[in-house]
Amino acid sequence: MDFPAQLGIEKVNSGASSGSQWLSASEQDRLMVSSPVDAKPIAAIQPCSSEAFEQIIEVAQRAFLHWRMVPSPKRGELIRKIGIELRKHKTPLGRLISYEMGKSLQEGWGEVQEMIDICDFAVGQSRMLYGRTIASEREQHKMVEQYQPLGVVGVLTAFNFPAAVWAWNAMIAAVCGDVILWKPSSKVPLTAIAIQKIIGPIVKAEGLPEGIFSLVIGKGKTIGEKIIQDHRIPLVSFTGSIPTGRHVATVLANRFGKSILELGGNNAVILAPDANLKLAVPAIVFGAVGTAGQRCTTIRRLIIHESIFDTVKKALIKAYASLKVGDPLDESVHVGPLIDKEAVLCFTTALEQVKKQGGKIIRGGKVLTGSSYKSNCYVEPALVMAENHFPIVQEETFAPILYLIQYSGHISNAIRIQNSVKQGLSSSIFTNSIQTAEEFLSPCGSDCGIANVNMGTSGAEIGGAFGGEKETGGGREAGSDAWKAYMRRQTIAVNFGDQLPLAQGIKFEL
Ligand code: NAD
Repeated sequence: MDFPAQLGIEKVNSGASSGSQWLSASEQDRLMVSSPVDAKPIAAIQPCSSEAFEQIIEVAQRAFLHWRMVPSPKRGELIRKIGIELRKHKTPLGRLISYEMGKSLQEGWGEVQEMIDICDFAVGQSRMLYGRTIASEREQHKMVEQYQPLGVVGVLTAFNFPAAVWAWNAMIAAVCGDVILWKPSSKVPLTAIAIQKIIGPIVKAEGLPEGIFSLVIGKGKTIGEKIIQDHRIPLVSFTGSIPTGRHVATVLANRFGKSILELGGNNAVILAPDANLKLAVPAIVFGAVGTAGQRCTTIRRLIIHESIFDTVKKALIKAYASLKVGDPLDESVHVGPLIDKEAVLCFTTALEQVKKQGGKIIRGGKVLTGSSYKSNCYVEPALVMAENHFPIVQEETFAPILYLIQYSGHISNAIRIQNSVKQGLSSSIFTNSIQTAEEFLSPCGSDCGIANVNMGTSGAEIGGAFGGEKETGGGREAGSDAWKAYMRRQTIAVNFGDQLPLAQGIKFEL
């Protein structure tokens, strides 16, 4: 296993970097990172100390004073170089993501590809930070709107996307003129160290200051908390669970900080009577078991019309029987391990609860043991007959459990079931009817941030704005006009005449 060394991962790593420099970090609470694939330790990290945190913020603030004045297409040029370098590291970085997080190698490489794609997108965006011209009601006046950089942007990321979520935020924020302070999940910090070691030298080689991309590693309750409380950080982009997100949102609102919240989902697929099952079945299986059910967009609820319920159930049982669970670095494997023992406990507890609440497990649900499973984090993806109102179905269990829910009658009944949860991230429908699809996409349709037709709920492209409604938090990242969240909007009025007309025709004479 040579990929950690190829990426500069050492036996013991500092958890504090201002760019190309690594600060001496805390000797206390050393963090040992083990792989969920085989339970073997990979490397240790010294978490970022309070002193190192202070230094990093100060360096970042100084970097901002320089970076905000660099023309944005030139900022894009740096991002173009980062994209080129990431291409060179795709193979080992994808392997590290897969080994550290447990997702399949294909998905590990997919994550690096997503980073490359957002770099390309951000380069284009760097020439398109458009404001607008607004018609002024006053003579010889002009009004325009422009966007200014914000400052230090804190990016707090979840364990399930150790690389891509940072890139969605960081590449766009950087072309907007912000500097980025990243705190990855302490479950997957080695990927962050590897990325920092790729990009730090590029920034330095361009003659740019330290502090444009900084990294701090430590527990959420210590370093994460410092970031959300810090008035020097005007924007925090947080990706994680709803309970942590609720706390982050409250702290930020209290100090009038800006936030982008990308929280949990409880995503559903609707199968209308005319659904094309040749498309639907593989899409559902990938969406429900990909990343071992640990994607924010994982399909958790399948809402099936009664006329096709038995056919779909049979097809899914057959498809699940062909799934190979095991080492995610083996390319023939479909499902890797869960992230840790706590995640396995959530899986088994949810299955016990659904049984008590009236559900029935029709396939899978066991914790897998034996010599072919090198850690105790492997589970058999579960198919469960359930009803939408069960308390456990209303929650996001971050594991491969798919609830099969029956509906009857008109499509509006399925849409009502789909929308009857507190989360609002991703949704999809399989139908060949234009009327049914358009109803799903209409104002009385899906209430989610993402609504797909004839495809699953996961695997979004970076070109669209990504995010969800309701308890998913309302944030948007990546493409479309998501860049605006990383900037300060400014409305400008200029009087180029020799009179002083007041708006609304107000008279004030001296
Ligand atoms: P989590 O909430 O446990 O942790 C997320 C991040 O918050 C981590 O970096 C953690 O260290 C940090 N954190 C913890 N306590 C904190 C505090 N008090 N202050 C500041 N930061 C703190 O989430 P997780 O288990 O890593 O990730 C899984 C969750 O993330 C799921 O709910 C999933 O749906 C969600 N998620 C959402 C999206 C999205 O785009 N909507 C994407 C990926 C994951």
